[in-house]
Amino acid sequence: MKACLLLAAALLTTSIGAVKAQQAGKPEDTEVWEPVPKVVTPGPSSSTPAPSDAVVLFDGKNLDQWVSVEDRNAPAKWTVANGAFTVNKAVGNIETKRTFTNYQLHLEWRVPANISGTGQARGNSGIFLASIGKGDAGYELQILDSYNNKTYVNGMAGSIYKQLIPLANPTRKPGEWQTYDVVWTAPTFAAGGAVQTPARVTVFFNGVLVQNNVSLLGPTVYIGKPAYQSHGAAPIKLQAHGDKSEPLSFRNIWIRDLPVVSQ
Ligand code: MG
Repeated sequence: MKACLLLAAALLTTSIGAVKAQQAGKPEDTEVWEPVPKVVTPGPSSSTPAPSDAVVLFDGKNLDQWVSVEDRNAPAKWTVANGAFTVNKAVGNIETKRTFTNYQLHLEWRVPANISGTGQARGNSGIFLASIGKGDAGYELQILDSYNNKTYVNGMAGSIYKQLIPLANPTRKPGEWQTYDVVWTAPTFAAGGAVQTPARVTVFFNGVLVQNNVSLLGPTVYIGKPAYQSHGAAPIKLQAHGDKSEPLSFRNIWIRDLPVVSQ
């Protein structure tokens, strides 16, 4: 009996050790530096207006469709001016009031012309395609100044952060507006919480396909391996990244709900 208990204790210790080992490590362990996606010059800049069945998430006037992530009862206090809004790093992340499952999203972003910093500390933001908690919890489509700015390729603009490298690099110069057009298929979960079908995403970046209906491994993690956890419909979140570079702006954000069909 005593031997059994000792064996059980040893097995428990081993399995706890294995879980810790999975979460341990350094951020650098999950950086991928090559192959470097080819640079593609996008066509002339264009801003696609919202179609009739879209939910307009930002029309140039106010952030009424958005709230603070840390307190969903508080307004999203980023700065609105000249038909755009700008990240307020002191306020932190913001997310939509509404929740979404499968959708088509259009969003435009701009790194300021006077941007400073290098690598991940240069025009860093991101869209969490489903926000599943406070802070940076969710699935991040990275936003970064990737115009002549070297970083790990699974962390550049158009990447699903630390998971999926973009197929090309069509980033415009700082100071110019960039477009993302995203098709998001939410993951589905069995009754017990296990993932049934993974999340899938398609992304056009300045009209260039950079993610082609690819599957995600789970929500974004900075250290270690992603792992799914069951969730339902979720807000869409924008990142106030903690680096010291000049903040980005956004404009013309709209979304179309897509049917949820059994898969
Ligand atoms: Mg980011």
